Amino acid sequence: MKRYATVCKLDECSKKLEQKIKKELDTFMTYDEDNPELVISVGGDGTVLYSVHKYIHQLDQVSFIGIHSGTLGFLTDYQKDEYMDLVHDIRLDEFKTYNRCLLEVKTHDETYMALNEVRLENNRRSQVLGVYINGDFFETFRGNGLCVSTASGSTAYNKSLGGAVINSGAGLMQLSEIAGIHHNAYRSLGSPLILDWTHIIHLESENFDGSILGIDTLVVDLKGAGSVDISLAKQRARFVQYKRVPYIERLKRAYLSE
Ligand code: NAP
Ligand code: MN
Repeated sequence: MKRYATVCKLDECSKKLEQKIKKELDTFMTYDEDNPELVISVGGDGTVLYSVHKYIHQLDQVSFIGIHSGTLGFLTDYQKDEYMDLVHDIRLDEFKTYNRCLLEVKTHDETYMALNEVRLENNRRSQVLGVYINGDFFETFRGNGLCVSTASGSTAYNKSLGGAVINSGAGLMQLSEIAGIHHNAYRSLGSPLILDWTHIIHLESENFDGSILGIDTLVVDLKGAGSVDISLAKQRARFVQYKRVPYIERLKRAYLSE
């Protein structure tokens, strides 16, 4: 790959790391912010999310890789003290790629993509949501909200909601409840529901006052009545893999090692 760009978190540590990486890469690659082949995110998992959103209209042309400037990341393959390994691996130019699934999120007037998840949340009052799957009524949810995550996002917000961790390569989406109210008048499934690309989740409400739609790092206010449709997107985000880190190893490193 010849053309690269960086997307950097705004703290000093990340900026310094970015400069060191650029200095090395500029000796054999060209910095091209508009049309990069490789996008290197320098920061955290949130920076990887941001970089995918920045190049969301160029997913066919762009591959992603992340280096973490802080603690261990889940979407990043390198740590800050491994930046010369990253430079070396990029120079060698021998790599595999793998795809991460995205969600397509449609409101009445916009379409968004999500790498981690979409959250429909209301902290002001209990949110009532009609949940339809492939056009059929499924349940009425009452509570703080619902989260639909990808396999990549299963270790993020979804995990805090008690959702399952799903191997990042799987083309699945997971519907999890955010503080659901359960008693004999209000019944919703309660457990996370895992669906595939054949499903469309439709969430509707007569009142979205106070609700937000969170899409990865983006937050949109929802007002009035309306609905949101969520499904697995046709487009995927392509990530470069220079070194193989088995998924189970990644999980152990992030959550179980001291
Ligand atoms: P943030 O507050 O930095 O994110 C919260 C934590 O989630 C950070 O430790 C972040 O890692 C980590 N994270 C993000 N994506 C992950 C993934 N796919 N697997 C494992 N960990 C992941 O906010 P942010 O950086 O803007 O990231 C936005 C994401 O944060 C949202 O998509 C949501 O999933 C997550 N989030 C989680 C909670 C929660 O668990 N209660 C609350 C709000 C948001 P870095 O520090 O490396 O960025
Ligand atoms: Mn973050």
